[in-house]
Amino acid sequence: MEVTNAKISIEAVKGGITQQPDVEAIVNAANAELTTGGGVAGAIHHAAGPDLYKECQDFAPIRPGEAVITGAHKLPNKYVIHCLGPVYERKKNHEELLANCYKNALKLAEENTITSIAFPAISTGVFGYPMEEAAEVAVRTILGELPRLKQVEKIKFVLFTQADLEIYQKKLEELQ
Ligand code: ADP
Repeated sequence: MEVTNAKISIEAVKGGITQQPDVEAIVNAANAELTTGGGVAGAIHHAAGPDLYKECQDFAPIRPGEAVITGAHKLPNKYVIHCLGPVYERKKNHEELLANCYKNALKLAEENTITSIAFPAISTGVFGYPMEEAAEVAVRTILGELPRLKQVEKIKFVLFTQADLEIYQKKLEELQ
């Protein structure tokens, strides 16, 4: 499904974040130390190769809601934007921190003249954020940022399962 707001398209697709060659930047659901880990971070580091880890070490540790940008190394993209999502319920302000991930990632995209970006569902894996609530924050935040975007023309949400994809598609229909 695809939503088009002026010249910015937003779509949700089913797939793996490392298999999105049509975007300049992919977003990593990183851990604070920017190490390999599992889930999205594991897949990204595995596909990018060890030089990504080396580059990341200059930036670690990062705080919840923060985003940093690196090259993409062996990935088919130009950049990786690493965001640390909040752990659900450990902090009362997890919603604000999750929104900050999306805002800060888009800010870095703008600063680096990136025109296309793909996001995974940050915090919904080991960090325990329920998919429905996380999708609401992700879609609402991205839609709220659209008026500020001058470089970004294409935004993709990449979901691992059909069920997660349907949650995002419903949110996109509801909120736009
Ligand atoms: P976090 O630590 O922020 O919770 P995870 O990497 O554990 O991040 O998971 C975030 C979401 O990404 C989960 O919904 C998970 O199912 C999904 N996911 C895991 N691997 C991939 C992948 N390779 N591409 C896209 N999504 C993925």
